[in-house]
Amino acid sequence: MFSKILIANRGEIALRIIRTCRELGIATVAVHTTVDQDAMHARLADETVCIGPPRGPGNRESYLNDAAIISAALVTGAEAIHPGYGFLSENAEFAEHVAEQGITFIGPSAEHIRIMGDKRRAKETMLALGVPCVPGSGESLDSLDNAMALAGELGYPVFIKASAGGGGRGMKLANSEAEFESAFLSGQQEALAAFGNPEVYLEKYLDNGRHIEIQVFGDGKGNAVHFGERDCSLQRRQQKLLEEAPSPVLSDTVRETICTLSARTAAQLGYAGAGTIEFLYQDNSMYFIEMNTRLQVEHPVTELVYGIDLVEEQLRIAAGLPLSRKQADIKAGGHAIEVRINAESVPQFLPQPGRVALYHAPGGPGVRVDSALYSGYTIPSNYDSMIGKILVSGKDRATCTARMRRALSELIIHPNRTNVPLFMRLLETDEFTSSTYNTRWLEQWVETWQD
Ligand code: ADP
Repeated sequence: MFSKILIANRGEIALRIIRTCRELGIATVAVHTTVDQDAMHARLADETVCIGPPRGPGNRESYLNDAAIISAALVTGAEAIHPGYGFLSENAEFAEHVAEQGITFIGPSAEHIRIMGDKRRAKETMLALGVPCVPGSGESLDSLDNAMALAGELGYPVFIKASAGGGGRGMKLANSEAEFESAFLSGQQEALAAFGNPEVYLEKYLDNGRHIEIQVFGDGKGNAVHFGERDCSLQRRQQKLLEEAPSPVLSDTVRETICTLSARTAAQLGYAGAGTIEFLYQDNSMYFIEMNTRLQVEHPVTELVYGIDLVEEQLRIAAGLPLSRKQADIKAGGHAIEVRINAESVPQFLPQPGRVALYHAPGGPGVRVDSALYSGYTIPSNYDSMIGKILVSGKDRATCTARMRRALSELIIHPNRTNVPLFMRLLETDEFTSSTYNTRWLEQWVETWQD
């Protein structure tokens, strides 16, 4: 096992990684920008290295400055780098640069990051392995006429997706042929602007789907296991807000089939470390949409249901140790729900940075809080508005729902506005209780709010 690692991230995920390291006796190095010098991850790590202003040379985000981060690892003698999620976590070149310096990248091979980071290639790869995918264009499309002909064959509505897209961005919906041209052209332009690559492909838009994702883990030597699914269908603008496990809509047969297929696929790929294979589930069928080659924001849902530390598992694999459990020994129990607390107003969804005068986290039975907040902390405007995650676990979904209401009622983040009121309302709806929603429902529901 490693004796010291560097964490190339900030916020709650940096803290999350520090926590496991501390339990395992691994020293941690935090990197931080000048606005993050008082951030909790910098306070709790054993060593810190400032990597400059929020935007460094060339106006580039400093948490993306791979040279500065790798230098920090070399100077402090860190043996490995954990990238967390976001930032450099799915950057194949970063993984290569880290390895070139004799440092271990805590994640899969650069090759796997590259294949899955190109969503079109990812689908091609999965199809070849017998994984069902959302119907769409196999090849990338540069001609409008070809694309439009294909959209007609697929049938509207269709999604125009950036091959290099991610984070809920880089998708354009065309409801009809009349909308296609402008959606296609703006999709290409935005793909180039946001991801530096104009390549787009088409996908049939599934308008009544659930987002089901499978947590897989590979040892890089052809062995892989799964830790069940998470249902992440409550979203706004293709971004998840509430996640849970197990999914309330899957039968045991469907669950077993998709989980086994996912683990088999990870094994066939020779995949190393944590991965998430994402599907849309509609009309009793699963359709692959993408694979994330990193730890997910919502990974603690799985940790609660399976009683496992996924960060420890990542460290084990990166250190060349075998998977800690065989599939037969991996057992799920009970239910877990996570909500993402964002510093934003509802229902306007405008960012609300600023000083938190008073912070009080909920506690008690079955509550887990992953957050880097503290009283007196100033939420910077430079980063994502997610400031923490509240998780609850219990014997079943109803227990978790009551527990989440109770936990949210204890949470104080004063005087800042957050999206907590949205969850308080959501947990009261018939749709939530009966789990009768698709990935589009929450957004449409919020639009009907009168106040
Ligand atoms: P990202 O990597 O940007 O998060 P994903 O491919 O994971 O993008 O998709 C995010 C969400 O977008 C999905 O959970 C789903 O709600 C929606 N989505 C993606 N593809 C489709 C599709 N073909 N039809 C309907 N919804 C889709």
